[in-house]
Amino acid sequence: MYRGIGAEHADVAILRGMRLPLIVGNWKMHKTVAEARAFVAAVAPLAAGTTAEVGIAPPYTAVAALRRLARDVGLRLYAQNMHQEPSGPFTGEISAPMLVELDVSGVILGHSERRRLFGESDRALRQKVPAALAAGLQPILCVGETDDERASAETERTLRGQLTAGLAEVDTRRLGEVVVAYEPVWAIGTGQVATPDQAQETIEWLRSVITKGRPDAEARGVRILYGGSVTPENAAGLLAQADIDGLLVGGASLDPESFSAIVAAA
Ligand code: PEP
Repeated sequence: MYRGIGAEHADVAILRGMRLPLIVGNWKMHKTVAEARAFVAAVAPLAAGTTAEVGIAPPYTAVAALRRLARDVGLRLYAQNMHQEPSGPFTGEISAPMLVELDVSGVILGHSERRRLFGESDRALRQKVPAALAAGLQPILCVGETDDERASAETERTLRGQLTAGLAEVDTRRLGEVVVAYEPVWAIGTGQVATPDQAQETIEWLRSVITKGRPDAEARGVRILYGGSVTPENAAGLLAQADIDGLLVGGASLDPESFSAIVAAA
């Protein structure tokens, strides 16, 4: 859990421009409330002592149930989605004020499963990212190219489009509060992780897109995570890259031991 910057970690943080490592587990539609409570109880002693920020994004039902428990062990809570409006006739949706009421720290936005399976659009994300910030939530904006886009050299076009839309309405003074997650769709849940070099190259490029024409300090503060088939075995190699500020972890975040091992790598 993040408990402040210890002297031994201060140099690393300075090297990264004070971008503290962030590890977030995306549980997707996994774990009942009872299972979620058991996970937090198991992960608490294992994860203690890290200087990284560590969070989990459980299903909404478990978010509510874990509120106190997560705080007690220093785990940040994230939601997996959020509607852009604060309230209204949007059956099945959850808004930013509802998440804030539950002490949620942030929200994953634009995950490729939401884009692909539930029609999440760049148009909606244009509003969702600033809406999250306005409510005091840390947005984790996911961007990533499909296998086909990669094969047809469309990666940069896709990523630029997703990034530009997601950040379009963000007040530049608050840019540093946004987290971007580079999640190549071909790597999600496939076991086909990007190599550290591949991930670093793309994330370095994403950072250059973010910083171009924007105030330096804020733009440079944007943390960029890698996500896609992260495991305890490949986490350290990814985190060793200069521009990779943390990890968004799916499958491997469901098991307390593997999640703790990934956190330890940070
Ligand atoms: C994800 O869906 O955000 C993800 C990174 O999944 P996995 O780690 O299972 O590839």
